[in-house]
Amino acid sequence: MKSEHILSRRGFCLCCVGAAGFAATGWLSPRAAYAEARGIVSLIKDSAAKSVISAHKLRNGVTVLEGSGGNVAVLSGNDGLVMIDAGISISRKQMTKALADISPEPVTHLINTHWHFDHADGNSWIGTDTTKIIAHENTRKYLSQVQRVEDWDYNFLPLHGNGVPQHVFSNEHALTLNGETLALKYYGPAHTDGDISVLFSEADILHVGDTFWNGIYPFIDHSTGGSIGGMIAACEANLLVSTNNTIIIPGHGNPVSTRSELQGFRDMLVAIRENVATLKHQGRTRDEAVAAKPTAAFDAKWGQFVIDPAFFTRLVYEGV
Ligand SMILES: [Zn+2]
Repeated sequence: MKSEHILSRRGFCLCCVGAAGFAATGWLSPRAAYAEARGIVSLIKDSAAKSVISAHKLRNGVTVLEGSGGNVAVLSGNDGLVMIDAGISISRKQMTKALADISPEPVTHLINTHWHFDHADGNSWIGTDTTKIIAHENTRKYLSQVQRVEDWDYNFLPLHGNGVPQHVFSNEHALTLNGETLALKYYGPAHTDGDISVLFSEADILHVGDTFWNGIYPFIDHSTGGSIGGMIAACEANLLVSTNNTIIIPGHGNPVSTRSELQGFRDMLVAIRENVATLKHQGRTRDEAVAAKPTAAFDAKWGQFVIDPAFFTRLVYEGV
């Protein structure tokens, strides 16, 4: 059963919820998709409520926490805890413990890589009067209003009060905290049109949000400006600012990843875009393109998670 498959893996993304529904049953009627998505959201929340959060200590006071939606980075030091992404609220108890295990200091800064639920839902409990939440301006826009994701026929409710990012930027933003220079950079439209990277400059650690899913086909959110071309451009930007010494934190998949794995992800996206574009330009319909299996050479390695080959083909088709 598909839901068991989802729950058997950590680091799932709400991005994948609708995908699982489609993967299990083909294209659902809007009503069926809605019912299925709601059911799986509940399952994911129930699972996250019980899920263990594992900590991976990196270097220069940076730790990655895995197990509450997307991978969360935490920088500790005298300025308090600095979080990159917030996970899902339902795992508040485990997240509170995981943070306390790093340091007793409060969270003073929270940076959102993009608006998706599995990265920003935790804003609602982490945000206080004294927590600075920082994001791209489009991320604040999406977190401030009812946000519809057409591919899932699903409406996300806005965050309230202290959970909404108060500090936004449009292109670049730099901060110095805990002896580390944090360089925040907007990608332009990629997985959404609000994605940013966060570079811990001295530590040489790069959090790339959902522009990289290590070892699994990614979701691409067309409802808020994502596309396959934007994903590839973001990968190229990530490759430009990293070296073989850089630790790369992807949104999903192994939280401690390398540049060569990122290169493999980029090459996979480029090859599949080419295959799907060829089919579309030949006049094949979306279903015909899926039937032609343009991802076949990559499925054994990348198609084992909730964005399955057929769903990924549809996502790419939409953007070429
Ligand atoms: Zn996402």
